[in-house]
Amino acid sequence: METGHNDRHNDKGRMMLADSLQRPHETNAVPYRATFRCFRGCPGEYSLYEVIYTCPTCGGLLEVHHDLEPLRAKSAEEWREVIDRRVGTTRWPYGSGVWGMREWVVPDLRDENVVSMYEGNSNLFWAERLGKQLGLDDLWIKLCGNSHTGSFKDLGMTVLTSVVKQMIADGSSVQAVAAASTGDTSAALASYAAAAGIPAIIFLPAGKVSTAQLIQPVANGAHVLALDTDFDGCMRVVQEVTQDNSIYLANSMNSIRIEGQKTVAIEIVRQFDWQVPDWIIIPVGNLGNISALYKGFKLLMDLGITDKMPRLVGAQASKANPFYRSYRNGFREKAALQADKTLASAIQIGDPVSYEKAVQAVQGSNGIVEEATEHELANAAAMADLTGMYTCPHTGVALAVLFKLIQRGEIQSTDRVVVISTAHGLKFTGFKVGYHEGSLDEVESEHANPPVYLKADPRVVKETIARKLEL
Ligand SMILES: *Cc1c(COP(=O)(O)O)cnc(C)c1O
Repeated sequence: METGHNDRHNDKGRMMLADSLQRPHETNAVPYRATFRCFRGCPGEYSLYEVIYTCPTCGGLLEVHHDLEPLRAKSAEEWREVIDRRVGTTRWPYGSGVWGMREWVVPDLRDENVVSMYEGNSNLFWAERLGKQLGLDDLWIKLCGNSHTGSFKDLGMTVLTSVVKQMIADGSSVQAVAAASTGDTSAALASYAAAAGIPAIIFLPAGKVSTAQLIQPVANGAHVLALDTDFDGCMRVVQEVTQDNSIYLANSMNSIRIEGQKTVAIEIVRQFDWQVPDWIIIPVGNLGNISALYKGFKLLMDLGITDKMPRLVGAQASKANPFYRSYRNGFREKAALQADKTLASAIQIGDPVSYEKAVQAVQGSNGIVEEATEHELANAAAMADLTGMYTCPHTGVALAVLFKLIQRGEIQSTDRVVVISTAHGLKFTGFKVGYHEGSLDEVESEHANPPVYLKADPRVVKETIARKLEL
């Protein structure tokens, strides 16, 4: 594999420009600089390679701060050219949607420590038929589930694991990584840790993740501990266990993951030829994902690459809706609750970690938080499937929320809307089977399409087809 830094462009006419753009990176002459800082603004900054998750002063979350001045030394057009040129290349590590923007992610990570499975660059497609049914011309689905382990969590985990690899290479005491998970975080962490040869410890709420999600970290050789509690209970245990600095916490409380996840925002804008859509709808649980989107769009504005923030919509399951409740009380106070069981199991979270960042994301984007019942999410997912998709239940939550916002007149027929599909539907076979069998709790399956079992008799088969097609 090519590990050189030289990213020379083939097109001779652009070679000089490409070289001059690339040289700072090759020589590290331009000191792109990123550090942890307190999200609430307490003084102090910390190395990204330090084992630190929260602000030592106030106990709040940290965030990665990028020095904008050296980044602004390149024009918007130069940045667009650099990013565009790297898309789809096999040149390590730029073929990754995340590392193609490395200067904006973790600028001083050395090539040999990048742990990547060429995540990102997921498809963004025009949902023409579903959009027509909804009276929306410009509906797009960003399929983040079409990724290495089947969810957007890969985008954060490639960054976290790479940082840990560099920490270990530079003599850190870290020996393993650990995370509590509703299924997809652990699948991503286990895979990237295995690729790097770093031991992973996974805490899952027993019986609350899909079979596919349970078996992914098992297959990747992680130490899988299924605890008799819910996600929030697992979160408390993992925080206790990682007090000791030999085990590195990989939950989204660790804001290094946000740096990878924010690339979705930039990738969407790039896929629209650097145009910003009007709306982004995303299913939210621990609230890292919506915070990351905001951070990505904000960076583009800070660098003068775009001049508009899309309206961000957080979609919650009614069974686990603390963020929706907080929104309804005008964010005067953070709601925390015991999440009830929901089909959207990856967002079955009652006490979201990235709450303050997500409030900023909603307020700073003139955003909205809305909820969907089990019935609404399951039928929205099924309706989308009938137009050729294969949606996970969380994507169903986002779609159900889209339907509501169209009905309420918030979203106009000419608006450009992107729904973020967070995981691959194939991880949730039980959800699909239950829907089409009509056996899901609190769901009336309006679009059930169960298989027809018949005798292998051509006459019976012909009659059945005629009836089905209404011939
Ligand atoms: C993790 C996850 C979410 C929620 O993301 P947060 O950052 O916790 O808000 C949504 N959908 C799927 C499929 C997930 O795995």
